[in-house]
Amino acid sequence: MLTPRRFDRFFALLMSLLSMAGSPLSARAQQRMAGFTAAAAKSQAEIETKFKSIPSPEEARKHHRFLTAEPHPAGSERNNELARHIAELWKQQGWEDVAIRRYDVLNTFPREVSCEMTGPIRYKAGLREDTYDADPDTKNPRVQSAYAGLSASGEVTAPIVYAHSGNPEDYDLLRKHGIDVKGKIVLVRYSNPYSYRGFKALTAEREGAAAMIVYSDPQEDGFARGKVFPDGPWGPESHIQRGAITYDFMVPGDPLTPGWASVEGARRIPIEQAVSVPKIIALPMSWRDAKPFLENMGGPEAPKDWQGGLPIKYRLGGGATAHIKVDMDNSVRPNYVVEARIRGSEFPDEWIVLGNHRDAWEFGGVDPSSGTASMIEMSRALGELKRQGVRPKRTIVICSWDGEEVGLTGSTEWGEQFADDLKTKAVAYINVDSSASGPNFQPDAVASLAPLIVEVSRSLDAPSGKSLYEEWKASMAREQKDAKDSKLVDTRIGSGSDHTVFLNFLGRPTIGLTFDGPYGVYHSAYDNFYWMNQFGDPGYRYHTLMSKLWGVLALRLANAEILPFDFAFYADNIRQFVQELEKKKDAKRSFDFKTLLSRVGQFEAEGRALNRAIERELASGKLSGPVSQQLNRRIMQVEANWLNPDGIPGRPWFKHILYAARYTYAHLELPGLTEAVERSDWKAAAEQGKILENALATNAALLRAASADLGK
Ligand SMILES: [Zn+2]
Repeated sequence: MLTPRRFDRFFALLMSLLSMAGSPLSARAQQRMAGFTAAAAKSQAEIETKFKSIPSPEEARKHHRFLTAEPHPAGSERNNELARHIAELWKQQGWEDVAIRRYDVLNTFPREVSCEMTGPIRYKAGLREDTYDADPDTKNPRVQSAYAGLSASGEVTAPIVYAHSGNPEDYDLLRKHGIDVKGKIVLVRYSNPYSYRGFKALTAEREGAAAMIVYSDPQEDGFARGKVFPDGPWGPESHIQRGAITYDFMVPGDPLTPGWASVEGARRIPIEQAVSVPKIIALPMSWRDAKPFLENMGGPEAPKDWQGGLPIKYRLGGGATAHIKVDMDNSVRPNYVVEARIRGSEFPDEWIVLGNHRDAWEFGGVDPSSGTASMIEMSRALGELKRQGVRPKRTIVICSWDGEEVGLTGSTEWGEQFADDLKTKAVAYINVDSSASGPNFQPDAVASLAPLIVEVSRSLDAPSGKSLYEEWKASMAREQKDAKDSKLVDTRIGSGSDHTVFLNFLGRPTIGLTFDGPYGVYHSAYDNFYWMNQFGDPGYRYHTLMSKLWGVLALRLANAEILPFDFAFYADNIRQFVQELEKKKDAKRSFDFKTLLSRVGQFEAEGRALNRAIERELASGKLSGPVSQQLNRRIMQVEANWLNPDGIPGRPWFKHILYAARYTYAHLELPGLTEAVERSDWKAAAEQGKILENALATNAALLRAASADLGK
C-alpha cells in the first residue's frame, strides 16, 4: 500500500509524465527533476551532463598528493600555505570574489607530552608511531607526538584506574566496586559506537579525575577488525588517534568569542570563563603504549563487556601508578577561511553554500584532504561551466574551513560574522568533511532535502557501472539497514563537523556527504596518501563521484525554478521523532503528545498540499517569475522558523528546536523537549512542547500561504 506521502510523489510523477507526452519514456523518466518544468529539466540535464564530464580521478589524485604531502594542523604554516594555494586555484578556475578571512582564535599545539608508569614497574610510553619503508610519509620528521587538542597543562603522579569508555555509567560501576577516581588518572578507550573524546574528558573532569588517557583498543579499530596498516586498513599497534577534547557541544567555535566572530578588535572573554575549554589534563595513546598499564593495573577484574581486544585480563585498577606531564601551547593564533563564489545570473542574493575543512591532525588522507581533493575537482568543473557561459541562476559560495578539528572553529566564526546575510540568503549548506574512506554512501540531511539526494543519486554512475542509487541501496542492504527510499538518507544529524553553525545557529538546511569503508587509522599518521592508494579509494573513483554528486546537488539547488524541498517528508520525519519520544519512561502520561502530533499533522497536510500545487504549476509550464520568487522566499523561511532565539535550555548557542547533538556528538532530535523528558522535568517539557507546537503552526501557515500564491 502507498502511504499518503508516497502516493503524492507517485501522483506528482504521473502528472509530470503526462505533461511531457511526446518524448520517449526513458528520457522522460530521466528528466524528471523536482522543482523544474519539463523544458527547464531538459536544459538542466544538459548542463549536468557537461558538468559531470569534467572531474577526473587523475586530477583528484594529484591534488590529494599535494594536500597530504605534509602534516597540516590548524594554525600551522603549512595549513596557511594550503589556504593561499586553494585561493590561487579558485582564481585560476574562474571563481569570483576570492577572499581569505582571518580569525584570531584559541589554537592548540603540544610543547611536551610524556607519560610514565612509576609502579609496580617502570615503563615510559613512546607516544610515537612506527615508520614503515612501504610508506615514506611515515618517516616525515614533522609528524607530531601524541597529544589531545586543548588539553590543560600540568603534571601529576597518581594511581591509575581503567574506566572503560569513560561514560557516566562506567563511573557508576567503578563506584559500586568502591573505586573513587578523585585525584587519579583514568585510562579510557575510544568506543564503538563512537563517542566524542571531549565528552569523555568532561565526564572525567566532573568525576574529579586528575588526568585522562584515551587509547585505541584493537577491538574498536585494530587487529580485531581485520588486517592492519601497512597490510590493511585497520590501525596497527602504534597508531595514535589524536583529536581535540574541546567542549564544543556546549558552544562551538573560538572559545574566547562564544556566539560572535573573532575578527580584529572583537571582545574576548578570559580563558577561565570559557565553558568550552577543558580543565583536565589529557592525552591519547596507542594500544601498544597502553598495554603495560593494563597488564599491571591490579584491582578487581573488569566486567565482561569492559574486556577489550588484547589477550590480557582487563582490571579496574588500584595497583599501578603513573606520572603524566602535559605542557600545551594553547594560545591565540590566526586561522584562515578561504571563500569564493560564482555569482548567480538571476538570483545573486540566493546562495548555495559549499564547504570542507582544510586542517588535519597529520596528513589528513581521509580526514579531510579526500574532501578537499573532491572539492577542488568540483570547483574546477563549475569554473569550467562558467567559462563556457553557463552561470548558475543562484550564487554558489564555496569555503575552505580552518580549525574544524579544534572546535569547528573556522566555519563557526565565518557563520557568526556573516550571520545576517546567511540567515536571509543561504538556501542550503552542503558539507563534505571526509569524502571517501570506502564505497559506502552515507549522506545525512535535514529531512526536507532527503528526497532530493535520492533523486540525484539516480542520475549518477557509480564505479560499479550501476547508478549511485542502486549501489547505495545494495550497500545499505549489505549492512542490514533499511534500504527503502524513505530511509536511505540519514535525517538525524549530530555534530562534529562544519554543518553545525549553519543548522544549529543560523537555521539553514544542511546536507552532509561521505563515502565510508573500513577505516582504522582516523586522526593518526597513517591516515595518509599511502592508505588512500592502498585501501580507501585506490583509483580515486569515489573522490570523483563525490565531486560530481556535490556539484550536481549544488546545480539543482542553484537552478531550480521552485526550490526542491519536501516539507511533507519533513513532517513525516518529525512525527517519527515525536513517536520515539512517546516511548520514553513516563512520557506518555506526563506530557501532552496529542496536541503536538496534531500540529505535526497540520504541517504535513500543508506540505502535501504545497507539493501538489507545485507539481500542478510545473506541469502547466506557465509558472511566472514573480510567483516563483515569492514562493521561494517562503520556502527559504521554513528552516529559520525552527529556531528559538533563546536556544535550547542550558545551551543557548544551539537554537534549532528539531536538531541538536548530544555531548557525545550523537544526534539528538527535538533537543529541548527530549532532554526535559529524559530528566522527567515535565514543566520544562510542557514549555518546550509549546515552542514546538508554535513553530509547527507558524510553518503550516507559511506553507498554506505558499500554496495560495500558486492558486492565484
Ligand atoms: Zn574532518
